[in-house]
Amino acid sequence: MLHCGCRYNNCVQYALSCLPFDVLNQYKEKLAFVSTGESDGFRVARGICESREIIVLSERILPKLGMNEGDSEVRYFTFAVLHEVAHAFMRHRSPMFDGITQEENEAQEEEADALTLKWYKDYVRKNNNPLLPELTKEEVERAKAKNQAARDTAYRGSNEGLQSDPR
Ligand SMILES: [Zn+2]
Repeated sequence: MLHCGCRYNNCVQYALSCLPFDVLNQYKEKLAFVSTGESDGFRVARGICESREIIVLSERILPKLGMNEGDSEVRYFTFAVLHEVAHAFMRHRSPMFDGITQEENEAQEEEADALTLKWYKDYVRKNNNPLLPELTKEEVERAKAKNQAARDTAYRGSNEGLQSDPR
């Protein structure tokens, strides 16, 4: 189920098309993708949460209109979508609710990254498009660092917390 707004549902759909067919078939009704790209907030109805895992995509990484699959932003967006599906596929535990250690969490992250890179590689090979290279760990790390910097800029000062009016 796609809940990212009309404009961005296509982007998620494209990213999901990079999954192996059997994985897509197995998971397409078990996951819900949400993002606030076209709204300031929304409620995810209980019916959706009861039967699906919810994957939240940052609006910061939604590709801009008119980009194609070779653009680095689309490639990183695709990576991010597949990475979250990989967590679901491998039934990874939640760092927030399952009490796993930091080491266990890091191991899960590496596992999800590795599976994502493999899925993308298989997609590239299947489509045999010479203009679309495989994703590399280095490319992903660069994109992660760029997004980390964008996050830091966007939320600069927010670690001071909300200030109440002193009057
Ligand atoms: Zn992860």
